Amino acid sequence: MPTYREPPVSFVSGRGCRLVDAEGRSYLDFLSGLGVTSLGHADPEVGAAVSAQAARLLHVSNIFGNEFNEEVAAKLDALIGDGSPMGGKVFFANSGAEANECAIKLARRYGGRGRHGVVSALGSFHGRTLATLHATGQPAKHEAFLPLPEGFSHVPYGDVAALRSIDPGSVVALLLEPILGEAGVVPPPRGYLAAARAVCDELGLLLILDEIQTGLGRTGRWFAFQHEGITPDVVTVAKAIGNGVPVGACWARAEVARAFQPGDHGSTFGGQPLAMAAVLATLERLVALDAPAVAESLGARLAASLAKVEGVATVRGAGLLLGVVLEEGLEARDVFSEALRGGLVVNAPAPHVIRLMPPFVVTDEDCDEAVELLAAAIARVKAAGLDQEKEKL
Ligand code: PLP
Repeated sequence: MPTYREPPVSFVSGRGCRLVDAEGRSYLDFLSGLGVTSLGHADPEVGAAVSAQAARLLHVSNIFGNEFNEEVAAKLDALIGDGSPMGGKVFFANSGAEANECAIKLARRYGGRGRHGVVSALGSFHGRTLATLHATGQPAKHEAFLPLPEGFSHVPYGDVAALRSIDPGSVVALLLEPILGEAGVVPPPRGYLAAARAVCDELGLLLILDEIQTGLGRTGRWFAFQHEGITPDVVTVAKAIGNGVPVGACWARAEVARAFQPGDHGSTFGGQPLAMAAVLATLERLVALDAPAVAESLGARLAASLAKVEGVATVRGAGLLLGVVLEEGLEARDVFSEALRGGLVVNAPAPHVIRLMPPFVVTDEDCDEAVELLAAAIARVKAAGLDQEKEKL
């Protein structure tokens, strides 16, 4: 269906941070499938775990147990506690939207009748199901699909006063991204998440953090909320947790998770052995790599080099989730296309922002190459713009 633009290129294979297209041309991948393949493409250990599991047992129903669920949930719970188990509970789904859908349903069940509202941020992105679309704070995206499920409202992102003025009424939860990813890698002011925690405590709201893009080491901590030393009530993850195998998960404090009763929620594929084998291998590899430390050190170096590129106004974000804000007059879509033509995969989430989310296996040399390719792409876009100006004169 025509839900995406015509693809500019099709990829057929990959290894680490390199991709190969159908014509055999090689690309440097600094997007990781939108923050998914954090260990790079064709990671040998994840590949081996998935192949072995495919040959052993692909799927059973959640009516039954499997050998992975408890272990994977415990590993995720410990990462949410930054190494200390939290005693939380996990629901496994197949995507980010489904993880958020679970969080929203859990909050409604926790709130009981009459308390079902979810407040989220303008500019946020939480998914494409009808409920997560309404939680997504982009009214222009809502228009074509009205009416959307009731019970969602939005506050300006990063605005603590706006959080303080939430009228709890029928509201049960505040749902936030620690950094707005799809809006162009927009970090909130320092202390925003801690303020959100305090407001939720004061008003008796659940704090749900969508760490689907920011989680699993990407920002330099296992989860971005750990930069502010807070504990959320619910955390959603997806993307990088399976290194490319589709998985989502919703973690909640045990007392919150207890609101669900058997039959309240479910998923045929959620938590099935193939996906769980991938998650187990991915989490083990991320821990062995010390993903947050890698993201922090490589990210600082990469951000500093990017900031020096001509045509770049600022670089924002954290760790290896970086938004390159272009100078006025430069369109991110043009830079994206030129970068791709030059052999660099990035994307353009906002009109003037290029996003970089390289895998954690990149080297300093890969980063230098990416900066050079991006600088060359920007220079070509600038030159083309100047030519057009001249033609007009
Ligand atoms: N939440 C955030 C912060 C995201 O970045 C995304 C996807 O980009 C989603 C939710 C939705 O995830 P999915 O596309 O796996 O449904």
